[in-house]
Formats: sequence, C-alpha cells, structure tokens
Amino acid sequence: MLANCYNPLVEGASTCSHCGLAVAEVGLVERVPRDVLVMIKTKHGREARIVRSIAYGGLLLAMIGASAGLIFISGNWGIAAFIVILIGGYFVSALLANSLGDAWGYRYGQKGLDEDWQTFLAQRAAEPVEPIGHGERANA
Ligand SMILES: [Zn+2]
Repeated sequence: MLANCYNPLVEGASTCSHCGLAVAEVGLVERVPRDVLVMIKTKHGREARIVRSIAYGGLLLAMIGASAGLIFISGNWGIAAFIVILIGGYFVSALLANSLGDAWGYRYGQKGLDEDWQTFLAQRAAEPVEPIGHGERANA
C-alpha cells in the first residue's frame, strides 16, 4: 500500500515515514499516478541535461584548445600539444561532469520536481482522486 504521498507503507503503519501524515486522516492509494511517474522521469532528464552539458561542453573546449595548439605551435610540439590538451580536456570535463555536474544537476532536477509536485498537489486538491479508504481494500 502507498501513503497519499505515494510513499510505500510498512504493513500496519499508522503514519507515513516520509511525510508524517496519519494514514487514518489522508487514506491510502493503490498505485502511483502516471503524472507522478512523468514528473520523476522529467527530473532525471533535467539532471542528465546538466551533466551532459558540462561533459560535452568541456570536450568541445578541449577540442578547440587542442586545435589551437596544433595551429599555433609548429612541428612535433604542436602535435604533442594537440594530444595532451585533447586527452587532458577529456579527463577534466569528465571529472567536472561527475562532481559539479552531479551536484548542480541534482539541485536543478530537485527544484523542478518540487515545482511540479506543488502544481500536482494543487491539481489533485482541485479534483481529488478518491483514496481507497483506510485499509478496506489494502488486503485485496
Ligand atoms: Zn507520506
């Protein structure tokens, strides 16, 4: 069974461990609505967009820097600069994407999810889905 916030409940729980609301007050629901699943998928998309932007942006900068090295440094040093800048840029952009990108992406995704959740709650309050009651069909 799920609490009204869609947190799975332990058998016989009287309050939700996530939101703290009493099950007797808000009732139970049988399944997570499609809108909530779409919200979570959208959150993951937002997070991925930030991480990928940093990774591919860093790689693009590395390619530009490596090309500049090849153009402006003559001879074998130019080729060496190209290789070093390109490989170094790859690792730096991967490192930044996995550290800064993860943190920023999480915050950006969570902020969007919070906004979507508030909108969903307002819509649900306006046209509530009938909860299944206080455990009547919980054993079905
Ligand atoms: Zn809850």
